[in-house]
Amino acid sequence: MSSARLILHVDLDAFYASVEQLEQPELAGRPVIVGGSGQRGVVSAASYEARRFGVGSAMPMSEARRRCPDGHFLPVRMDLYREYSRRVFAVFHAHTPHVEGLSLDEAFLDFSDDPILRRSPEALAETLREAIRNETGLTASVGAAPNKFVAKLASDLAKPDGYIIVPEDGVRAFLDPLPVSRLWGVGQTTADRLKRAGYATFGALRRAPEPRIRGLLGRQAPRLKALAAGEDNRPVTSERTPKSISREQTFDRNLGDYRQVRRIVAELADEVAARLRDKDLLANGAAIKLRTPDFQTHTRQARLDPPSNSSQVLRETAADLLEHWWQEAAGSPRLRLIGVGTRELVADAGQQSLFDNEADNQADSGGRRDKATDRLLDEARKRFGPGILRRGPGGSDTL
Ligand SMILES: [Mg+2]
Repeated sequence: MSSARLILHVDLDAFYASVEQLEQPELAGRPVIVGGSGQRGVVSAASYEARRFGVGSAMPMSEARRRCPDGHFLPVRMDLYREYSRRVFAVFHAHTPHVEGLSLDEAFLDFSDDPILRRSPEALAETLREAIRNETGLTASVGAAPNKFVAKLASDLAKPDGYIIVPEDGVRAFLDPLPVSRLWGVGQTTADRLKRAGYATFGALRRAPEPRIRGLLGRQAPRLKALAAGEDNRPVTSERTPKSISREQTFDRNLGDYRQVRRIVAELADEVAARLRDKDLLANGAAIKLRTPDFQTHTRQARLDPPSNSSQVLRETAADLLEHWWQEAAGSPRLRLIGVGTRELVADAGQQSLFDNEADNQADSGGRRDKATDRLLDEARKRFGPGILRRGPGGSDTL
């Protein structure tokens, strides 16, 4: 897995039902079904013993009772499951700070930047499974792969109580035989359509001519073809990563002067960018929020590509959004509140990268100066407080 990422998907087996079996040892090895009790109650979890009777989650409880009349039917005890979940996530965090929880019993863990643990994904998978078993008594299944999509498929196929490691050069061999119904976003109808056209497996879809697939899948075609080839660049976003960072300011009087509004937007953008850098985060999107005196709130957003925490990038993006909104606004706009925000935040993984210098050298001198200036401003802000240093509007540095 040399330079590839190493991502683990860890998923507890029949979580709620397994917790109940631990809490009530007389239920071990018996069909246990946890779910809602009312008229329209559905199955939340079924133990593997119950699954043998054809009971599955989201099935109506009445149907589950019909299929498994001797099953043990139990109500959902969410507080109890949360407590077990907390202990499982403590195990995750003991091994890496890069944990993205998907639900109480499921998470992605990113070990890409851990030179020691990533050496043996097999040992890592077994260590985690054993630690969870020791801490809670629960079994977990693990998939390890160069990306999230493949890791999740691997843990699904490893269930129950197993693990599958998919090295980078083994991704295609692993995916090719899988049925297309396992692709995210492909329902039964689409899967049937693909099958009839002769593309029943990931491999067939991967090798299919693009126009042919476009005819079958429409706009979804490129995304699904990439997934079938095992391509997925989405980062693991730790829950300690905030979802967004923003700053806004309300005014006692209405602001109607465009130049003044633009200057405030630039200041807010500067502050938001500084907070991103302080937390080593990059934003994939930026937005402005404007509230008019009639308390209507307007938002405008833009993607940042590549993701950024640069003051200059954020200021220019926010200024563009403001300009467009101002031009489209009827009459002469007045504002009570101005805000600048960023979203889809990800860890700045390149922060300690060996290639930082290289990237700097490739950037034009403007980009490099921008980075250096950002750093100076951040230092000054820390020493003197946020109000002391500002850049002038329009991107020219006042330093
Ligand atoms: Mg699970």
